[in-house]
Order: sequence, then C-alpha cells, then structure tokens
Amino acid sequence: MRCVKFLTHITKKSALLHYRSLTAASFKYDDLQETLTDKKQEKPDPNNLLFGHNFSDHMLKVEWTSSDGWGKPIISPLTNLSIHPGAKCLHYAIELFEGMKAYRGVDDKIRMFRPFENMKRMKSTADRAYLPDFDAEELVKCMKKLLQIDREWVPYSTKSSLYLRPTFIGTEPTLGVTKSASALLYVITGPVGPYYPTGMNPVTLLADPQYVRAWPGGCGNFKMGSNYGPTIKISAEADKKGCQQVLWLYGDDHQLTEVGAMNLFVYWINEQGEKELVTAPLDGLVLPGITRKSLIELAKKWGEFKVTERSYTMAEITKALNENRLKEMFGAGTACVVSPVVVSPGR
Ligand code: PLP
Repeated sequence: MRCVKFLTHITKKSALLHYRSLTAASFKYDDLQETLTDKKQEKPDPNNLLFGHNFSDHMLKVEWTSSDGWGKPIISPLTNLSIHPGAKCLHYAIELFEGMKAYRGVDDKIRMFRPFENMKRMKSTADRAYLPDFDAEELVKCMKKLLQIDREWVPYSTKSSLYLRPTFIGTEPTLGVTKSASALLYVITGPVGPYYPTGMNPVTLLADPQYVRAWPGGCGNFKMGSNYGPTIKISAEADKKGCQQVLWLYGDDHQLTEVGAMNLFVYWINEQGEKELVTAPLDGLVLPGITRKSLIELAKKWGEFKVTERSYTMAEITKALNENRLKEMFGAGTACVVSPVVVSPGR
C-alpha cells in the first residue's frame, strides 16, 4: 500500500533536515537559564500511551514585552502558568501552537523531524496573530536542550515518540481588541503513541457540507487555536455517527480540503488513465502540513506516479469510486503520521 510505504519513509527518515536561517531580533540560547526538578515523575508505559495525556518533567518559557523585547529563555520544572484573567489570549484567542515530534532511533540517537519547517510555520502564524518574531535557530537550540534534559522521556519504542508543543500566547491583561503588548512563548513535551486509538487501521470520516472550517482570506493556513475550538462539536457529531474525524468540504462543488488534524491525499487512476496522487493546494484553506510537504517531496523523488496539488471535489471522488479508479485515500500529519481512510461507496 502507498500509505504504508510513505509511513515507513517518514518514520525512518526523521532527522534535522532542511535548515533555513529564519532570523529576527530574538531571545538567545546563550542566555538560557535552567532550574531542574528534583521530583522526576514515573514514565508511562510506551506501549499504552494516549495522545497528549502525559507530559515530561520540564518546560521551556520565554517572555516578551513591547517595551523590553524578549527576555531570557528559561527551562524549569513543568508548572502551571499564572495568568491574569484579562489576558488577551483568554478573550480573543491570541494563541498559536506547533506540533512536532522527536524520535529515538534504533541507534539510540534522538532526532527531531524537520523542526525548521515547524519554525517557518510558527513564525508565519505569529505574524498573522500579530505576535512578535523570533529567531528560529535560537528556539530550536533551546528545544534541543529541553530534549536533552528530558531525553529519558523519548520512548524506547518504534511505536511511540516524544511530541513537542511550542505554544505562543498574547498575555497583555487589557480587554481592547488590539495587539498584545506582552506575550509568552513556551514549549511542553510528552510521550505519545498512535493518534487514533484504532492505530494504523483505516479511519472513517464525516463529510458534511453544512460545516466549513476555513475560507479564502481566512486563517485556515495558520496553526491557531481559534481554528480548532469550533471544530470540536462537529467532531462529536462525527463520533456519534461512528466516524473518527471530520473531512472539511468547501464551496458549492464540495471540494475536499483537509481532515481535523491531517492533510488529505487521494491515490487514483485519473480520468486520463494515469496513476496520480492528488492533494488540495496551499490556497489558504488548508494547513501547509510538514508531513504533506514531505510526502510530496518523496513521491516526486520516487517518480512512480504523477503528483498533483489541486482542488478536487466529492463528485470526482464518487465518479472515481464508481469506476473503480480510486485506489487509496489517506491523511498525513505529525500526530497520525500517515493514516489510511476508509472509502466505500455505500456509506
Ligand atoms: N491539517 C491540520 C488542520 C492539522 O492540525 C495538522 C496537524 O498539525 C495537519 C494538517 C498536518 O500538519 P503537519 O504535517 O505539519 O503535522
């Protein structure tokens, strides 16, 4: 199966790849201060991990104010945040995040998967949220130090990994809908297993055109919390119907955009009789996934079939299904890596 081949490549080739110098006035790794815990928690069983339920011992924090700029990065024991109830993130969702993974290789080395790609997206989301810029390399260096400190939290398992959640919030305690004059960037981490409790089994998706996730000129291509909160009720609808996630459609022609936490790919024989891998374009409606980008790059390198980024519709999917041309559909994302999707004309 194509998606299994992709999955194998992605998990094996996890590495610090594609460096980009994404510099800005920034906090500096050289100023990093550390306070380590003397109460290490017990690590959970790596074969029994629920996604996002466990957190490692330490976190990274950096504060920013418009008057003084960036402060010193601090690694400290994981702790609750103290936040003013008027903080802008709590009222206007001035919040963004990233989802990254670090894997322990069979050589026992710990590798982050394409962290500079996440940094590029985090910086572009920060720009859209009107939060301050930072130097990607400095944040990656700080995260590497966090990983080194909590290295025993990176599971000794090929089925699980350490998830990193860089988060950036506007903390200014005033209620005007204006730029936040203070902000906090922090990173928490935790060991994770398969995103779906069903593991690598195909997932079923709810595609209901009455719900829309993103629209032209909106923020669908940025990783902001405000894109996710409104999807939860629809995910619960999906769950009631026995589906694991929502497939977001767009437009009167019901274009397939992406799934809750993954970009969507279709592998079919197209109407011209060619083998083709299709995924929605980066036109603002979908998140520019790093797994998506990696699969496109891999598939182009393999050269075994045509690779196309274009809008495609439910009518095309139904036609391909009826003509027995639709070979596979799968989602791609950091959390699920590559996840097959059930396609059957009857549902
Ligand atoms: N689409 C959405 C809405 C997501 O939340 C994610 C996950 O981050 C993705 C796609 C996949 O992106 P990535 O491969 O960078 O994890």
